[in-house]
Amino acid sequence: MITFACFVPHSPILIPEVGKENLDKLKDTVKAYKNLEEDLYSAKPDIIIIISPHANSQAGQFFTINQSPYFNLNFKKFGDLVTKVQLVNEIGFGYKIKESCEDFFPIILTADQELDYGSGVPLFYLTEHLRQTKIVSIGYADLSYSDHVKFGQLIRKQINLSGQRVAIIASGDLSHKLHKDSPAGYSDRAQEFDQTIMKLIQEKDIDKILDLDQELIKESGACGLRSLLILLGIIKELNYQPVQLSYQSPFGIGYLVENFEVK
Ligand SMILES: [Zn+2]
Repeated sequence: MITFACFVPHSPILIPEVGKENLDKLKDTVKAYKNLEEDLYSAKPDIIIIISPHANSQAGQFFTINQSPYFNLNFKKFGDLVTKVQLVNEIGFGYKIKESCEDFFPIILTADQELDYGSGVPLFYLTEHLRQTKIVSIGYADLSYSDHVKFGQLIRKQINLSGQRVAIIASGDLSHKLHKDSPAGYSDRAQEFDQTIMKLIQEKDIDKILDLDQELIKESGACGLRSLLILLGIIKELNYQPVQLSYQSPFGIGYLVENFEVK
């Protein structure tokens, strides 16, 4: 059964050793993360599925499942030589997802012991008191948006069959072009993208998300849309209540924390 589901951002600045004084600019996001962490802990998950835009080291037409037995979290690439966490993989469940999906989608197994920061930032916060809980690491593909919803639905079947308590974390940032000084440049449609996505999440309107103007999506430079669609595919038929915990964009990138409270 699914006991927890959320959508979260993955700015490395959220890691105290990386963000340092800039962390203060994300304090609403950090507070929201801490709130989620308590919720996840109370949900007593046996398995945590993390979906990240940056987990797919093959970056192509394949969904990926990372089957390294252990995962290392660190943020060395961002100058942090201190933070280190080790987590354990739920390999058996990863295989089952692959087996059940391979007739429908291209899906491959990878073995990267170092987790990408898109997985690492959320897991750093959310597993603070759950370091022994087993992880399944999924990367999305360069396939259609509706395929991502279908992929989510197949994962849900596998969750139901497993009889385990499963938590889902979808990692992703919204628009990367909100400010004149955004690292990815500015688009006057970026704000529209973020507001539209947040509204459609609240309205639970997956069809409208799938029908979004392709130009608007492209203009936004968001990395989180496909993660979000896998998550929505997983929880689609459940009774859930979306609760927006925070939204910030101090560096020109949209950071949304959303709790999909499963009833
Ligand atoms: Zn990203």
